[in-house]
Amino acid sequence: MRVDIITIFPGYFGPLGMSLIGKAAGRGDIEFTVHDLRSWTRDVHHTVDDTPYGGGPGMVMKPEPWGDALDAILPPARHPPDQLPDQPPDQLPDQPPDQLPDQPPDQPPDPPAGQSVRLVVPAPSGKPFTQDMAARYSRVDHLVFACGRYEGIDARVIEEARARVPVDEVSIGDYVLAGGEPAVLVMIESICRLLPGVLGNAESAADDSFGAGRDGAAMAGLLEGPVYTRPRSWRSREVPPVLLSGDHAAIARWRRDAALRRTAENRPDLAARLEPLDSRDAEVLSEAGFPVSGDDMAH
Ligand code: SAM
Repeated sequence: MRVDIITIFPGYFGPLGMSLIGKAAGRGDIEFTVHDLRSWTRDVHHTVDDTPYGGGPGMVMKPEPWGDALDAILPPARHPPDQLPDQPPDQLPDQPPDQLPDQPPDQPPDPPAGQSVRLVVPAPSGKPFTQDMAARYSRVDHLVFACGRYEGIDARVIEEARARVPVDEVSIGDYVLAGGEPAVLVMIESICRLLPGVLGNAESAADDSFGAGRDGAAMAGLLEGPVYTRPRSWRSREVPPVLLSGDHAAIARWRRDAALRRTAENRPDLAARLEPLDSRDAEVLSEAGFPVSGDDMAH
């Protein structure tokens, strides 16, 4: 996977050289390039912001450096905007615009078949970032992240970029950061850990909270429950005996019960969306103060 990041604070991305993702980059599985937006400014002060039209507090990022940066990093525009599929992020990345017909003869050749590119613009007003979106992004060949600061980027930059690649404005949560850099680090970590070979044990992502589950999707839709390691006894606190029993069915049931309790307590919105439940599930949820109606039960 190729990842380009445009920012006015390139130093923010030092952590990409660390841990599992740093190792994957070291092996050449991920190619990160961090670009300083100011290198596309044309004035002596390297100005990237200006006052907002219409008044109001704060500053807005100027379109010119962003336009020049994206011209340099994104594939060239090859299709009129009205020929591009309008793909919301939950449907990405089926058809990259590079695969669309009618390429004018004066443009460079298409990239290899299947190569896809996507521009991701972090914004608190964007669509919520989810584990499912991370999984879909992990199948894109080339991601470009545009880190806003101040009150954000002049809206015409995003409009124009949409004429050449799919663009998603994405929020990492219902709060406001000072800049897109921490949001991009969060997204990159969650996307890149899903790439083949990045996690030591590929199954661990399926078992995670928000994971797709495995073994018949037993844990799909649930938060992960508590986990334990050695020693068996620590400060007079014991590991739950069932986990030491070697009884795989009992362990799986205990894990599901614990996951149900945690989901009911911390995320009732997720508990309410659970797939049809068996009678033990219903019992656990009721005990956790989350009554289950007959309609939610598997028959
Ligand atoms: N005026 C903007 C608004 O109210 O929607 C907030 C701008 S914020 C101070 C500056 C930048 O931080 C944004 O352009 C975006 O890149 C980033 N940012 C802030 N909160 C974010 C969030 N929850 N998710 C993703 N990016 C965020």
